[in-house]
Amino acid sequence: MLERILRTLLLFTLTLVTLVNGYFVTPTSAQDQSEYKVDFSGVSAPIPVNIRTGPSTSAAIIDRLSPNTRVQFSGWTRGTSLTDYWTSASDNRWFFYEKNGVKYYVASAFINGNPPEIDQNNPFVSYQVTITTNIPALRQAYEKAIRNWNNTGIVLLTPSQNAPITLGEGYARGYDGFGWWQSNGSRVTGGTVIQWNRVSNRNAAYLEALATHEIGHVIRLNHRSDYSIMNNSWLTRITGPTQNDINELRNIYSR
Ligand SMILES: [Zn+2]
Repeated sequence: MLERILRTLLLFTLTLVTLVNGYFVTPTSAQDQSEYKVDFSGVSAPIPVNIRTGPSTSAAIIDRLSPNTRVQFSGWTRGTSLTDYWTSASDNRWFFYEKNGVKYYVASAFINGNPPEIDQNNPFVSYQVTITTNIPALRQAYEKAIRNWNNTGIVLLTPSQNAPITLGEGYARGYDGFGWWQSNGSRVTGGTVIQWNRVSNRNAAYLEALATHEIGHVIRLNHRSDYSIMNNSWLTRITGPTQNDINELRNIYSR
């Protein structure tokens, strides 16, 4: 009985803390939630394979792949570890594809095929950046945004001190955020400002999307009207670059 009361009290305290912080932090946010955007395909195991709403066996099943189906994936992440259908090795990778901004996940353990290695040590272009804001939610958003772009394998943004590219807060010309780049010969400068008083009540996902969008401008991406983090109308539904953004980056930077 006492244990139950304590547990209720703990749950209440945790709820209170997360409410005070402004958004609900799910227990899984403690693990590495990096997402890698890369095109690849695979063939499902010779049994029906579940398609889920998240990279976990507790996520809802929304569809099922017929045996031996070729699937085109657009990225992968980590989640529940499962035993590989063919090798019996443990595998915590989950592959996803996207439809209308929604991700559908399939356990890698039931897919024959692997994403190509993203080599973050060999990007097409690299920039040093300095996060200049001290607002925790904004710093976090910028850190996630940096990871989002680095996970494409095309650009590498390295946090450092006094870099010519600054990621900060301030007046954003009437928008939630503003990002720019400028080149003077080979020297590229640029930066972002996010106007905190316009977005302080927005959730972490929106701030991540906004920061990713503004950094997109810094790495020379323009607005788009299709499925893209550079399309303002997608900012409330996705948080990172899409295949369209990755293709555009490749157009700009491929050697
Ligand atoms: Zn913009």
